[in-house]
Amino acid sequence: MEYDEKLARFRQAHLNPFNKQQHEQGSGEETPDRDTEEAPPELSPSEPEFHCPECVMDLGLSEDHFSRPVGLFLASDVQQLRRAIEQCKQVILELPEQSEKQKDAVVRLIHLRLKLQELKDPSEDEPNIRVLLEHRFYKEKSKSVKQTCDKCNTIIWGLIQTWYTCTGCYYRCHSKCLNLISKPCVRSKVSHQAEYELNICPEMGLDSQDYRCAECRAPISLRGVPSEARQCDYTGQYYCSHCHWNDLAVIPARVIHNWDFEPRKVSRCSMRYLALMVSRPVLRLREINPLLFNYVEELVEIRKLRQDILLMKPYFITCKEAMESRLLLQLQDRQHFVENDEMYSVQDLVDVHMGRLSCSLTEIHTLFAKHIKLDCERCQAKGFVCELCREGDVLFPFDSHTSVCTDCSAVFHRDCYYDNSTTCPKCARLTLRKRSLFQEPSLDVDA
Ligand SMILES: [Zn+2]
Ligand SMILES: [Zn+2]
Ligand SMILES: [Zn+2]
Ligand SMILES: [Zn+2]
Ligand SMILES: [Zn+2]
Ligand SMILES: [Zn+2]
Repeated sequence: MEYDEKLARFRQAHLNPFNKQQHEQGSGEETPDRDTEEAPPELSPSEPEFHCPECVMDLGLSEDHFSRPVGLFLASDVQQLRRAIEQCKQVILELPEQSEKQKDAVVRLIHLRLKLQELKDPSEDEPNIRVLLEHRFYKEKSKSVKQTCDKCNTIIWGLIQTWYTCTGCYYRCHSKCLNLISKPCVRSKVSHQAEYELNICPEMGLDSQDYRCAECRAPISLRGVPSEARQCDYTGQYYCSHCHWNDLAVIPARVIHNWDFEPRKVSRCSMRYLALMVSRPVLRLREINPLLFNYVEELVEIRKLRQDILLMKPYFITCKEAMESRLLLQLQDRQHFVENDEMYSVQDLVDVHMGRLSCSLTEIHTLFAKHIKLDCERCQAKGFVCELCREGDVLFPFDSHTSVCTDCSAVFHRDCYYDNSTTCPKCARLTLRKRSLFQEPSLDVDA
């Protein structure tokens, strides 16, 4: 058979180079190996042969290795490739100098080497850490998990391919895809510019994107020609199917404006960003949408609980016992609840919506109050006696029937301290003392 004819047939048939014998079909000769074709190459009774130059020609070059089931893709592929490379080198030496066939063989050698590079054992020479566009990629050790590459959308065969995960944004991809990444790590966006898009799906139209994917610039259209345009509900922009996998996410703008928690389709990049941002307390609800507190009752309850917790905090940070029993750590997942009463994360709002937040916060509130008012003598001693009536139990600022002086934080019965026109006895005392301090030194100077 003529070389060119055979080559053409190979390419047409997209033969799997590791299923030996197939290219011999048509010769009419049955071989004992024929029935092992479906078995993984490792299990074949004899090694594949690459005797004739033609056999080497298309080894693995037209084959899509990455859509093969993992069971058929084994380490022996690498050995076979190595052998094929050696044979290809030999063929190049034997063929006439500068002949077309020799040139073809050189091209094949390059392809074989590239293929080998892709398939090589991960532990061989890939670095453990690679920093690219602010991503910090760590080489993955796990070989058994089957993941999808965020760059090329094909499966990562952990067994034979090196792959990396970014510790910042959890982007994962093949080692061979690392250098094709064009999008910087969203983690840096989260730390430098932690602000949500708060307009609901701010669409500009495909024309403003020049009919190209907002991320990779591939041509797209709504008719699906040459490639489908998918809208991201978070950015309002359109993406190709490589950059938008129809992932669903709760959209902050819809939550804030509509109290709508229905997940919408978002691009991969938005999904990663939203996932990293979900626990970050970046929403100042009172400023963005104060009406929400009229509309969502639970939010009012949460606000009161948070205010109380802030009033309890000074007790805990001055109480050795409370510090030792790590009471404040009850809120370690929502550190912002110990710091202020106005910032919310999307996760907080999701939990409010699910009815989970007021439950867990009420529990924590009860636990805290129990320490201060019942369990701890030191904290109890820091209670207040109402200076207006000097009657009744010891008061704490987080008790429901109390009022707190905004200037000196003294605590009174709400019934005794009705409004701002009530004079706070403690503040009055302090003013008096200040005045006398101011006068005494001046008398000294005069004298
Ligand atoms: Zn890939
Ligand atoms: Zn990253
Ligand atoms: Zn794209
Ligand atoms: Zn205490
Ligand atoms: Zn009173
Ligand atoms: Zn006062």
